[in-house]
Amino acid sequence: MRRLSILGSTGSIGRQTLEVVRNAPSDFTVEALTCESDIDTLYDQIMEFNPRLVSVVNESKAGELSVRLKGSGNNTEVITGREGNIIAATLDSSDTLVGAIVGFAGLEPVYHAILSGKDIALANKETLVAGGDIIMPLIREKGVMMLPIDSEHSAIWQCLKGEKRDDLDRILITASGGPFRGMTREQLENVRPEDALRHPTWNMGGKITIDSATMMNKGLEIIEAHHLYAIDCDRIDVVVHPQSVIHSMIRLKDGSVLAQMGKPSMVLPIEVALYYPDRGPSIVREFDPFEAVNSNLTFEPCDTEVFRLVKLAYEAGRKGGLVPAVMNASNETAVRAFLKGKIDFLGIEKVVFETVEKMDPLISGTELTLESIEQADKDARICSEEIIDGNYGK
Ligand code: NDP
Ligand code: MG
Repeated sequence: MRRLSILGSTGSIGRQTLEVVRNAPSDFTVEALTCESDIDTLYDQIMEFNPRLVSVVNESKAGELSVRLKGSGNNTEVITGREGNIIAATLDSSDTLVGAIVGFAGLEPVYHAILSGKDIALANKETLVAGGDIIMPLIREKGVMMLPIDSEHSAIWQCLKGEKRDDLDRILITASGGPFRGMTREQLENVRPEDALRHPTWNMGGKITIDSATMMNKGLEIIEAHHLYAIDCDRIDVVVHPQSVIHSMIRLKDGSVLAQMGKPSMVLPIEVALYYPDRGPSIVREFDPFEAVNSNLTFEPCDTEVFRLVKLAYEAGRKGGLVPAVMNASNETAVRAFLKGKIDFLGIEKVVFETVEKMDPLISGTELTLESIEQADKDARICSEEIIDGNYGK
């Protein structure tokens, strides 16, 4: 039985994690839930799963939730602020943290959870992109498990089971190609947030959906795989596979290629992580290879001249140090600005490239600690805001 603290429980991954719990309540207990501000969803989750503690980052929303809970006679403790995520992540009664917060905010609680000996089931890729160099050594030092939830990384993990790590030659990470696959730079100039939010195969939160449209999601995933599987970024290839049936592949030194397949649903990789090393019950409808929409599997290269953030991510991953943290912070800032209509779609890439270029000389040689990563994240956000206001301010 796993005793869970689910950070970001009101989001897409958080809700699907609770679906896994709902399906087999005797396999889990829910100790803590957290969110940023969506107290309506959190209230329903408290009523259903009765956690010991919840945390809401937004203070006034946390106060509102407390009043509502008192009125209903529920005695779940409500805490708030950035500290609230850390308390939830390190709760004595839980043994596993599900990292389903979106963005860099996920790093700090994951770091503290590892320190306090929790296993980490991780969806929040930004944690590894920005902090992989401190997180993975800490995982090993504390002897806890890193259980990947991101579907590609779950696929790679499953393919690697039973293989000797020295036999791994390359990782072939698949990508749907997003809503703008096949488009030219000229066509990308005019796409709007509502077009970018319409993903062809996956139903996800807003930020990752935009990352899929720019293909930065794949860039982040290359760095995520580099940390999880201790492999150079140059040995990771992106394979565009629009049907999202093969979730990734590995090539072994004898040339064998192993793939993991299934429906595009995050419930399965969440289940694989939470039941590891066992297998849980079947929740999603089984994959049927004869279904018309999936009967032709196609593969194409990623056009990094059109989706230039993938190229930048390779460079950032190669350079390491604080560069990936800067790239990630800048991307988060630019995506938010795009969703608010402050910059256009190709402006995202422009902001990220310019921020990395400006900050690169300032960060080289800095020792990697949680504090230095947090500082780089903060500085990169300020730098990106300035670029956005200077070049695009309305
Ligand atoms: P969503 O936007 O759907 O959900 C984000 C969750 O994080 C919400 O619960 C939100 O709360 C919460 N949150 C945001 N900021 C904070 C904070 N500072 N402290 C506490 N909680 C916070 O995102 P997704 O579920 O789509 O993605 C979550 C992570 O998983 C991302 O890193 C993403 O890249 C990764 N991932 C997602 C996949 C998917 O299919 N969705 C697939 C693979 C990886 P509130 O609701 O109150 O805003
Ligand atoms: Mg993924």
